Amino acid sequence: MKISRKFDIYTAFITVLFIIAILVSYRAIRAISDETSNLFDVSNEFDYLTRVRQKLTDLQHNTEHYLHVRQGDDYSNAIMRDLTAYEQALGLASAMKLDEEELKLIRFANDGLPEFSALLMRLIKKKDGISAEDKQAYGGLRVDYIEKILQETDTHWKEDLKKVTGMSGRAKAARTRAMGLLAVLSMIMIICVLAARIFFTRIVLAPIREIEKISNDIARGDISKRGPVTSDDEFGGLSKSINLMADAIKEKIDKLEQVVNSEQAVVREQKLLNELMGIIASGVDINEVLRVFLARTRDLLQAEHSSIFIMELRDNLEPEMKIFANTFEETSTLDCARTMVKGVFFNVIKTLTPLRINTPLGETPVSHLEMRNLLAVPLVSHDKNILGLIVIVNKEGGFSKDDEDVLFTFSFQAFQAVTLQQEIMHYATTDGLTGLNNHRIFRKKLQEEIRRAERYGRSVSLLMIDIDHFKAFNDAHGHQEGDHALKTVAGIINKNIRSTDFGARYGGEEFAVILPEATGPQAHIIAERMRMSISSSGMNLAEGRQKTVTISIGHATFPDDAVSDETLIRNADLGLYSSKERGRNRVTAYSETASAPLRPGDGEPPA
Ligand code: GH3
Ligand code: MG
Ligand code: MG
Repeated sequence: MKISRKFDIYTAFITVLFIIAILVSYRAIRAISDETSNLFDVSNEFDYLTRVRQKLTDLQHNTEHYLHVRQGDDYSNAIMRDLTAYEQALGLASAMKLDEEELKLIRFANDGLPEFSALLMRLIKKKDGISAEDKQAYGGLRVDYIEKILQETDTHWKEDLKKVTGMSGRAKAARTRAMGLLAVLSMIMIICVLAARIFFTRIVLAPIREIEKISNDIARGDISKRGPVTSDDEFGGLSKSINLMADAIKEKIDKLEQVVNSEQAVVREQKLLNELMGIIASGVDINEVLRVFLARTRDLLQAEHSSIFIMELRDNLEPEMKIFANTFEETSTLDCARTMVKGVFFNVIKTLTPLRINTPLGETPVSHLEMRNLLAVPLVSHDKNILGLIVIVNKEGGFSKDDEDVLFTFSFQAFQAVTLQQEIMHYATTDGLTGLNNHRIFRKKLQEEIRRAERYGRSVSLLMIDIDHFKAFNDAHGHQEGDHALKTVAGIINKNIRSTDFGARYGGEEFAVILPEATGPQAHIIAERMRMSISSSGMNLAEGRQKTVTISIGHATFPDDAVSDETLIRNADLGLYSSKERGRNRVTAYSETASAPLRPGDGEPPA
């Protein structure tokens, strides 16, 4: 029920109570006043009769004294005065509220008054003494008139006295009743005031306080607070409105938080991408770039481990691992990674769709790594030639669709940047025709190797290679066949060196090979092996024929034969020149050339 309605009912109740109280009080006051007024009337009558009686008694007293003791003017005058007073008293009867009996008495007194006053006048005019007749006349009148009036007033007195006693008893009772009534009304008033107070506290104040508290909580940011909607009154309605308002605010805040979160995620991703770009631009090794990429991705998703696999898909769809990096514990091995790529994640690479698992996978057979959940996202290079897979493992609470999206966009961009950089690096350092390192990177590498050899007191050897009579080959078979032969020779050179060695196309049909740690004799063996390998392999020509080519090699070693990269190249070249001079298809060490300084034992006749 609405509070205004409750208030109306209460007001109506109080009004009715008030009217009843007024009526009852009025009746009680009326009762007291009636009784008091009656009492007043009776006492007035009483007074009046007393006065009449008094005047009559005075008159009688003076008259009898006049008759029986002494006559004289004093008494005559006194009787005249008393008579006037008596007449006046009787004359006042009309102003009195007299009952029937009393009126009758007064009428009797008035009726007998002329005779009575005539007798008295006659008596006081007698100068020669009072006769027996006079006395007798007076005596008769006294009995018939005075005595009767005195007797009657006595009787009325007694009756009035009785009436007064009854009346005062009733007045007293009315007063007692009125007092009781007053007490009851006071009690009812107090109860009404208390009821009003309880009504106000329970129905008005308590809900106001509750709503005030909840509004304060909401205003301070505790937006989950809601007011109780227990009544269907105005406060219930107010509570409902506040709750609706809080819901609306919460919805807005949630939306804002979502926007802020996604903005922050974008900023974080952008920051990481910038960092990665910086690292990529600084030209560090691909493994270092991948290591940072992995660590940042793992931090971004707040997971325990991350791992990246980069591979080429062969014809039989067996992925061949090219590069692998991970942040797993020591127990995780490359074997484990291979097992996983061939197993659980193979489909991810094949279909290029992310995989999200939020149920424990248990321990993998090889790594003993307990996987509680994981997220795997495929990576594709910008030219689609290189495939990758990034796997993030163990996140508190599991991976969400948002995590998947973040990883997908972030790792996609980062991976494209990495692979593009790798390709640019490759083009910048590789010879387009042969696939060997180009001249520029060869010079850089040679400087580095010489510095390293210098620092550690080691050797570094250099082979300079030139194809024999290549101009004639070109002339005979055309430039295209020449290019093909160049590629074949480069492939054979590459096959004959270790992964730590460095083969390059020096220019035209000339090649250079850096052999770190190799001494002169060791370089000679490698060069011979290379020379023989080429002279024994045929170059396939377009017509299906085969043609062999030969190469001449010169070599020199740092620090035995040279003091710098420049002199090392020059001296290896001198060896090459010597090989040509001596008939081609041979290997010559700089130390064997005429330009080389004499060594102990040189020039001595053979033993
Ligand atoms: P030799 O070295 O035995 O003295 O004789 P050569 O005929 O090989 O002489 P030289 O080394 O001076 O010849 C260089 C020739 O190599 C010139 C050119 O026809 C050929 N040549 C250089 N670069 C290329 C190339 O990129 N492609 C082809 N097809 N031929 C090239
Ligand atoms: Mg040449
Ligand atoms: Mg040549």
